[in-house]
Order: sequence, then structure tokens, then C-alpha cells
Amino acid sequence: MDTPVIDHRGPEFAELARKCLDGIKTIFKTTNPVIIYTATGTGAWEGALVNTLSPGDKVLMVETGHFATLWKKMAEKLGLNPEFIVTDWRTGVDAAAVEARLLNDKRHEIKAVCFVHNETSTGCLSSVPEVRKAIDRVGHPALLLVDTVSSLASADYRHDEWGVDVTVAGAQKGLMLPPGMSFNAVSDKALAASKTSKLPKSFWAWDDMLAMNKTGFFPYTPATQILHGLAVAIEMLHEEGLDNLFARHDRLAEATRCAAKAWGFDIVCRDPKYYSPSLTAILLPDGYDADSFRALALECFNISYGAGFGPFKGKMFRIGHLGDTNDTMLMGALAATEMALSLAGIPHNRGGVQAAMDCLVSAHENSTHAATE
Ligand code: PLP
Repeated sequence: MDTPVIDHRGPEFAELARKCLDGIKTIFKTTNPVIIYTATGTGAWEGALVNTLSPGDKVLMVETGHFATLWKKMAEKLGLNPEFIVTDWRTGVDAAAVEARLLNDKRHEIKAVCFVHNETSTGCLSSVPEVRKAIDRVGHPALLLVDTVSSLASADYRHDEWGVDVTVAGAQKGLMLPPGMSFNAVSDKALAASKTSKLPKSFWAWDDMLAMNKTGFFPYTPATQILHGLAVAIEMLHEEGLDNLFARHDRLAEATRCAAKAWGFDIVCRDPKYYSPSLTAILLPDGYDADSFRALALECFNISYGAGFGPFKGKMFRIGHLGDTNDTMLMGALAATEMALSLAGIPHNRGGVQAAMDCLVSAHENSTHAATE
């Protein structure tokens, strides 16, 4: 990315753009176009809604946590009529609840089902195929919009095979890039909806973008430096192999959970079915302020945890283990955490670091055995 800026209307740029526009499809696992916005994930949320829906449309959303709540607030501000399936923020999407609600919607007033694949505020990952099957079982025509900001290139994802209509993603997590770029992967059904959707749109409109992208260009100045990074990120992801990358994320997540368990702490995600490969949200014992703990760890060990939101504000800290992260980096983070817990005087069992090491060693032993069998 640290290269001279090139002319975004020149031939060299078209080559870079084509590499990115084609390459990113292999990460979403789609053969359809992917829109690349010069914006953060929030912009891609807006792109997904305004291109497919019309004022007053009912949309079914699931309250998995803070980010699902923000997306719902955006839908309200845009003049949509979102309905929330409420949860306690400790679980993922219950496909049966989606199915039950759609079954009741005899007049097909619900135009889209929207959910966050990996809820970054809680560390709960939901099953896209389960929700897809729930929609299909009741024969409901709603579009399926999925936010993969913190799961794309960290957890298995298949836009086409899983029948997703719009996938929202951002650059700054599994794609290992700086913030400032985000994505909409689209289905044919979503493209058809964009022809009749009536929400106002200009910057976010897919049609201008798709038309210009066909020639290798963008309707406005794109984030050329991040595109250089994206081309390399896509190469790196394939060099490792997506399945190996998912296995690495699962291994790091499992090791983090082992550490939390050994310390004697609960994690926010209470059902193993929804465990996130991207991050783990760890609850501190009652009466201990997680924000003071985070500040102390930052001060003493230069480690920056994610904060708690909503019902977990001040009660938990989040360890991210996604993107360009390996076993050694994770062990550094867990060792810093165990030291910070001691320094903060938070009661915990020793041995979280050892438990994580044992977990990593056994994961490597198992994968070596599997490879030689
Ligand atoms: N969706 C999820 C799941 C996120 O984690 C985030 C941000 O972390 C967003 C949406 C919003 O993206 P951004 O902050 O890049 O605008």
C-alpha cells in the first residue's frame, strides 16, 4: 500500500481494479459482482438497505447485540419499519424464531431478513444455512441480508451456495486492511430488487458502480491505496488456503476459551453452537470493573481489548483473534491478560496460559496426525 498514488482513470488502475473486483468474489464465494465502497462497514450496511428496499418496508432483524442494534437504528432512520427478534445478547440467531415469524407473515409484508453473522460485541456466530432453510421452508420471498463485517475471511462463508442476497463486509477485520473500504456482494434477486427499490440513494447506488466497474473503473475516486492492499490480502488468503485459515481461527478461538475457562470465567456466548472464531468476549466476576481492567492492561502491557456494550458495559473484555494472527501472538495476548488479572487483583485461577498452550499443542498434534493418516 505504501506505493505512489496512481491515476484512477489510467490503464494501470484498471488492471488493479480488475484484480480486486475479480479476486474478492473468491472470498465471498460468489460469481456475481461485488460492490466495493470507499466507506467503512456502516456505509455497506446503508448500501444493502437503500438498494433493495422502499420507504416503510418491514424488515425482520435479530437483536444479537450492539451491531445488530445499530443496523436496526439505521433502518429506522432510513424510513424502514424494522422488527426485532429480541435476545439476551448471549446467543446467535435462532432460525426457528425467524421461521415462526415468517410463517405468521401471511401477506408477505416482511421484505427482508437481516442479521449479523458474527456479532462482534458478543462473540456469537450464527448459521446462515439454517436461516436460509427457515426462509425456504415457509416459502417466504423476503430477501436475506447478512453482515459479515467480522466473519468474512475468518469463518466459513458462501454467498452463492447459502443463497444470501446481500452480504455486507468491511476491510478492517479478516481482510487485514486499514478501515475505509467495505463491500456488498449481491445476488440476482438483490439486483432485481434494486431496479424497483424506492429508498433514495446516490453515493450508495449499485447501478452506476456496476456500470463503471465493468470497464475497470469507479464512478468516483476510489481508495487506491487500500485497493493495492486488497489485491495482496486476497493473494495472502489463498496462499494460506481458506480452509486452513478457518481452521487457524477455530484453533485460536478454542485456545482463548480454554484460557478463560481455566481462569474460572464465563464467556458471553453461552451456547457452543454459536462460538465465534473471530473473537471471545470474557465476563469478569461480579463487582470488578472491566473498563478499569482494560485501562490497566493497556497501560502496563500495551494490550488493547474490545469493550463491553449494552448489558455488558463494564462487565466484559473482548479478545480479537482474527486476521493476521497466529499462535505466538495469541499466547502473548493471553500471558499479558493473566498478568493484568493478577495486577488488577481480580480473583482467578492460575493456569489459563498453560491451558491455552495445551489446547494449541493438541490441535497441532491432531492436524499432524490427520495429515499423515
Ligand atoms: N457490523 C459489525 C459486525 C461490526 O463489527 C462493525 C464494526 O465493528 C460494523 C458493522 C460497523 O462497521 P464500521 O465500524 O466499519 O463502520
